[in-house]
Amino acid sequence: MAFQAVYLQKNELGEFSASLTTLDESQLPEAGDVVIEVAYSTLNYKDGLAICNKSPVVRTWPMVAGIDGVGRVLQSTHPRFKEGDEVILNGFGVGETHWGCLAGKAKLKGDWLVHKPAGLSAFQTMAIGTAGYTAMLCVMGLEKSGVRPDQGEVLVTGATGGVGSVAISLLSQLGYTVVATSGKPEQAEFLKSLGAAEVLDRNTLSAPGKPLQKERWAGVVDSVGSHTLANACAQTKYGGTVTACGLAQGMDFPSSVAPFILRGVTLKGIDSVMAPLAIREEAWARLAKDLDPAKLERLSREIPLSGAIEAAAQIMAGQHTGRVVVKI
Ligand code: NDP
Repeated sequence: MAFQAVYLQKNELGEFSASLTTLDESQLPEAGDVVIEVAYSTLNYKDGLAICNKSPVVRTWPMVAGIDGVGRVLQSTHPRFKEGDEVILNGFGVGETHWGCLAGKAKLKGDWLVHKPAGLSAFQTMAIGTAGYTAMLCVMGLEKSGVRPDQGEVLVTGATGGVGSVAISLLSQLGYTVVATSGKPEQAEFLKSLGAAEVLDRNTLSAPGKPLQKERWAGVVDSVGSHTLANACAQTKYGGTVTACGLAQGMDFPSSVAPFILRGVTLKGIDSVMAPLAIREEAWARLAKDLDPAKLERLSREIPLSGAIEAAAQIMAGQHTGRVVVKI
């Protein structure tokens, strides 16, 4: 059976192209024990990088893009899944080294899949996507480090992005006072509607700063990296925790050990791609329980598969807000 896919390839001269292509089920990869009919996928920052060939996200060519998907099982030889089950895929190198979910069908490893929580629709799971599930991992990281709402303000950087907007929604729902930093002042009201108590210009954090600054944050969710992360650490209160999950400003971390050795600050790394199944299931169960569906709807929009390549370019140009759901 034929299906459409966002197909990434390099020709013999190494020239890259991304196109909407018709593929046949017989072309799906050998590896995998569950075939799904994809209902929705999404566009994360990493999908933008892959589709626009901005960094070496894709390591096997040709590649079907899409690091996230939700759909119904068509065939399975995996003991946890049977035909008709609704499943979610996030990460595990899908869309990077294994054909992904911006496609009508995907052949995946059952070990990578979680059952869709009953409390979330297929659309909602992709409105959350890897970005939202990573935001939940950051919130769980803060909680496990003992950061409580009564300890003070929590900073969320990259606020209008996928991780940032879901993190604001979750933290405010859980009773935290959230301060957001954004490069889009015109989106301040949107960020307040998600639950931000205050919105700061991201320039206040993105330039080189002193190793120790005035203590302000009980916790931080940072999806930006570079000087922003360094300044966030330098402003974190004694004993506070900074969760670092992204690099939208840069991969570098131009900091000193001062916040860690003089204020006992914890820097907690957050990875969603290879996170073990138990943590994924905990995160998805928490998302079904703790994320306000009205806020999720406010921060997401739907596009057709045929619009995915153009939308990926907008993400790379920093022009979008919130989450993009791709209807297959
Ligand atoms: P988005 O593109 O949706 O959001 C990124 C946001 O970062 C932008 O909306 C913008 O927000 C801000 N930003 C962009 N460029 C800059 C810059 N030069 N300096 C400062 N801020 C900037 O991406 P996602 O939310 O999907 O992902 C965010 C980051 O998290 C990415 O680096 C991604 O790779 C990473 N990530 C990591 C995961 C993991 O497992 N560790 C999983 C998911 C994502 P604003 O305009 O409001 O400032």
